[in-house]
Amino acid sequence: MTAPENTGRRFHAYTIRHLEELLQRAPLTEDQRLRTRAVASVLPFRTNAYVVDELIDWERPFEDPMFRLVFPTEDMLPAEDIDHIAGLLKADAPKQEVTAAANVIRFKLNPHPAGQLQLNVPKEGEESIPGLQHKYRETVLFFPQQGQTCHAYCTYCFRWAQFVGIADLKMANNDVEQLTGYVRDHPEVSSVLLTGGDPMIMGEPVLRRYIEPLLEMDHVESVRIGSKALAYWPQRFVSDPDAEDTLRLFERVVDSGRNLAFMAHFSHQKELESDIVREAVRRIRSTGAVIRTQAPLIRTINDDADQWAGMWRTQHKLGMIPYYMFIERDTGPQDYFSVPLWRAWEIYRDAFSQVSGLCRTVRGPSMSATPGKVAVDGVVEIGEEKVFSLRMLQARNPGIVGRPFYAKFDENAVWIDDLKPAFADKFPFE
Ligand SMILES: *Cc1c(COP(=O)(O)O)cnc(C)c1O
Ligand code: SF4
Repeated sequence: MTAPENTGRRFHAYTIRHLEELLQRAPLTEDQRLRTRAVASVLPFRTNAYVVDELIDWERPFEDPMFRLVFPTEDMLPAEDIDHIAGLLKADAPKQEVTAAANVIRFKLNPHPAGQLQLNVPKEGEESIPGLQHKYRETVLFFPQQGQTCHAYCTYCFRWAQFVGIADLKMANNDVEQLTGYVRDHPEVSSVLLTGGDPMIMGEPVLRRYIEPLLEMDHVESVRIGSKALAYWPQRFVSDPDAEDTLRLFERVVDSGRNLAFMAHFSHQKELESDIVREAVRRIRSTGAVIRTQAPLIRTINDDADQWAGMWRTQHKLGMIPYYMFIERDTGPQDYFSVPLWRAWEIYRDAFSQVSGLCRTVRGPSMSATPGKVAVDGVVEIGEEKVFSLRMLQARNPGIVGRPFYAKFDENAVWIDDLKPAFADKFPFE
């Protein structure tokens, strides 16, 4: 087999220290560069040579969704906040002073949406188990400590607070026995999802320590890995030193009679184009693993029905299964990235209507909110009233899954908290 062009390149992360140099490629004035640096002092920034060289169009960076996906831009935060940080940077203020000012802004951006830190962490006796979330009966989430970073960061990431160090590592755990022990003690759990960050940032020997014990438990039917590595570093499955071992590990999961579900995050068609991503997909599939795809709908990045239809078609053609379209969560630069709920539903429907039934495995647009996953099924008129038709795809309380309910139409609503119940005095989850 001939090796794709990018093989052999070793992973190396670019961080805020490299930002100045990377931005030399973009036609920015000095003041714009300073303001970009100011945004990057508040929101996380990390990228790598594959993303920079293969995904971004440096001729027209400001019109390029891939640029906005990884590079902070000054419109992502309120101008007065940027003025303040830019002023400090310009005056060469001490690092602690910049961090303190950045933290004030960060805490205005709802860093812990959906009560993640308090609500879903299970207890064993009196002790809560860090790095574990058990929200829906069947599925447990692991946050392995070594997997709490990514090959590049998305500017819209809902876990951004972790990457800037204000959500601390309460969310993570490297006690494999504690994590897997919880699953062993809970026979109702049929699916374990490794998440992060990106678990594929871990080398195979570490990944294996989290996965192998699960293969000894009869009630575990599937192991899922949530990852954006196919988009940001497909070398992980092709040319990295542990690529082969990783594929063999996936194979062992499949050979044990379980489903290895690789939950791939793709935000844009451009991420599906390179030879190496296609080769990586082929290799993962050759292990018997199933790749399902998901992404949030983001203003200025993929808020377009043809974009989604194109992604689903290409994914399907490459043997992947479209799974979720999410609505951007109520955190971080949500004001910049959010799409109104009525518009999100229109985009979903217009994209859905363009693709064959084989792509219509995708669900959404869905909000991962405190009570569960809420899908916007449509905007309808019932009697005299214009309403949103909603449905729980997942809920803490399984009894309310799948039942339609309604909210008053609101053209500005971008999240479940903006909605008021219709034909009832409360929502089913209240
Ligand atoms: C989405 C999600 C899951 C998985 O839900 P599925 O519908 O089975 O994909 C599990 N736990 C949490 C906290 C989630 O947000
Ligand atoms: S890959 Fe996922 S966890 Fe990592 S920055 Fe993007 S959205 Fe966040």
